[in-house]
Amino acid sequence: MKNIIKKSIVNINYLLSKSRKSKSIFFHDVHSKNEYVKNGDVSTHIEKFANYVSIIKENGFSIVDKIRNLDNEIEISFDDGYFGIFENIDFFITQNISVKIFISPSLFNDKNYMSSNNIKELSKYKNISFGSHSYSHKRLDVFNEKELEHEFIKSKQIIQSLTNQEVNSFCFPLGIFNDKIIDIGLKTGYKNLYSCIPGPYFKLINSSVIRRSIADNVSENYFKNIVYGADYILSKWYQKKHYLK
Ligand SMILES: [Zn+2]
Repeated sequence: MKNIIKKSIVNINYLLSKSRKSKSIFFHDVHSKNEYVKNGDVSTHIEKFANYVSIIKENGFSIVDKIRNLDNEIEISFDDGYFGIFENIDFFITQNISVKIFISPSLFNDKNYMSSNNIKELSKYKNISFGSHSYSHKRLDVFNEKELEHEFIKSKQIIQSLTNQEVNSFCFPLGIFNDKIIDIGLKTGYKNLYSCIPGPYFKLINSSVIRRSIADNVSENYFKNIVYGADYILSKWYQKKHYLK
């Protein structure tokens, strides 16, 4: 489905149904330099991100480290561990915004990504937590059982030893998963498995997978739609694309 069509459907749905259910929203990167837009559409200017935070607060939602209540809470995560988060960390610290960063050890030394030292440094902040985004950042349905275990276990070990935090959250690379992947994720000790399928936080998929809404660099108006769950209308479409049978 084309982006513009998806966005129009969500805009219309906002007028029809608004939800105050707690939800998880995710991004990839932020930037603060105007002369270039890093990573094209997947990076949000930090000033725009600050506007998102205001929209959340003005509408009576709060940003939390972990969702505990059915309504009015929003959890924020960043996938892939881009360097822009490290560069703009002061914003998150001074505003006391809790974020969870999903990282893949195979990306640690790539250009535009945080190094293991950067991650170590960020793990000292109380409001920054880390989750695994697999070891290789490859779509997981290509792996056999042994390889899958490696993706889950090895990444967990590396991130735990870097951050001194217990890692029990995982998000699927490219959002792709199936029942075997869910089983191995749970078996290898993860408690929270995150998808890229929008929906209320407590409305789990297959009673184990958490929903999340993507919000990279969207307009402020569209962001408000997401806050009120107008994008839930796309969940069947995302589910068909990401949850493989
Ligand atoms: Zn990713």
